Amino acid sequence: MVECPCGTKIENPSKYSLLFLKKELFEIDILCPNETCYLRELGYIRFHMSGEEAMFREASFYPPFVTWNATQMGKDAAQRVLKEHLRDIVTKRISWREIVQTMKPGSSGAEVQEISTRFATTKVDAVGDLRSVGNLRSNTVLWYGVDGRRRH
Ligand SMILES: [Zn+2]
Repeated sequence: MVECPCGTKIENPSKYSLLFLKKELFEIDILCPNETCYLRELGYIRFHMSGEEAMFREASFYPPFVTWNATQMGKDAAQRVLKEHLRDIVTKRISWREIVQTMKPGSSGAEVQEISTRFATTKVDAVGDLRSVGNLRSNTVLWYGVDGRRRH
C-alpha cells in the first residue's frame, strides 16, 4: 500500500488530489489527499500544447515520497507501484479535455483550478506511448511521453 510520509494511506490512484495551478508552466501538481500534510506536493505532470491538443510530456513523483515508499515496501515494488499510479493518473484521472479548455486564450479559467476527477474521459491518444524510466539513484519515478526529454 502506498503511503505518504505524513502517514496518509493512498489505496489507489484516485486518492491523490490534482491541482492545475501552474498553467503557465504546463504543470499539474499531484498532491497528498491530506490537506494538512507537511509535504503536500508529491509529484507533477508536465505537458505541452500542440495546436489544440494537450500532449503528455512527463510525470514524476518527488524523491521524499518515493524514498518513503521504497523503505516501506522495497525499492522494486515501490518503483513498480508508483509507476502504475502515474500511468493511471495520466491516462484515467486527468480530464485532458478540461485542461485543453483551460489552456485556451481568454478562457475564464480561474488561476486555481481543481481538476475534476469525475470525468474519466481522458484523451488517451494524446498520451502516446508511455516509456518508463526508473531512476533508482535519485529516487524518482518518471514516466515520459513520446517526445519526453529529461530536463533538470
Ligand atoms: Zn501527506
